[in-house]
Amino acid sequence: MQKLTAIILSSRDINEYDRLYIMYTLEQGLVKAVAKGVRKSTAKLAGHLEPATLSEVYVARSKGLGQITGAITLDSFEGVKNDFEKLDEVLKIFRFFARNFAEGEKDEKIFNLLCDFLKIVSGSKREKLLTLAFWWKLFDFLGQRPEVMKCVNCQKKMTEKSKKFFSVEKGRVVCGDCGLNFSGLVPINNNQIKLLRIFWGNPLAKIVKVKVEERELKGLGRIRESFERYNF
Ligand SMILES: [Zn+2]
Repeated sequence: MQKLTAIILSSRDINEYDRLYIMYTLEQGLVKAVAKGVRKSTAKLAGHLEPATLSEVYVARSKGLGQITGAITLDSFEGVKNDFEKLDEVLKIFRFFARNFAEGEKDEKIFNLLCDFLKIVSGSKREKLLTLAFWWKLFDFLGQRPEVMKCVNCQKKMTEKSKKFFSVEKGRVVCGDCGLNFSGLVPINNNQIKLLRIFWGNPLAKIVKVKVEERELKGLGRIRESFERYNF
């Protein structure tokens, strides 16, 4: 039997009383396992296996899918579960994990990032800033940190005054002069570049205190979405 520290990402009903769970774990990365009889009214396990819960999960494995034999909630992140908008953003992140990560590929840094994010966002009203920071930090941890200090084309260092675009395709910033030769460009401004550097250089607990305007978040959010579509 294995003891796993797991964030429950999603679940799906199977058979008459069973449920298949997808979890992101500290010890083994993505894990899929079945809980038998979990949908019977007498089962106590289900409450500890709700999506967006951090739990200690016991998994028995012989061959094929593992079987969940026990679970204890460590943090239920009620502030996420009780807020529709937060939950929606969190579920988007969970779907990304389920789609992009392979079973058995563990990554302590990414696990801790997700854990920190859920903890902080659960008790904060700044979910837009936190979610955006989480995504850009995640891309960085996955080896996809865009270059924002110099132009990808002419290699010139960006100055405060130079016009800047973000190339979704290259995942880099392009200067105004070179911009004419590229397609798929989105404008990006100094404040947004500053914000990206704050995201990459600081833990979420610090980022949550940063002052930022709504429109900068929106702009960076749009860039993030196209960056994700293109690169993952
Ligand atoms: Zn250039």
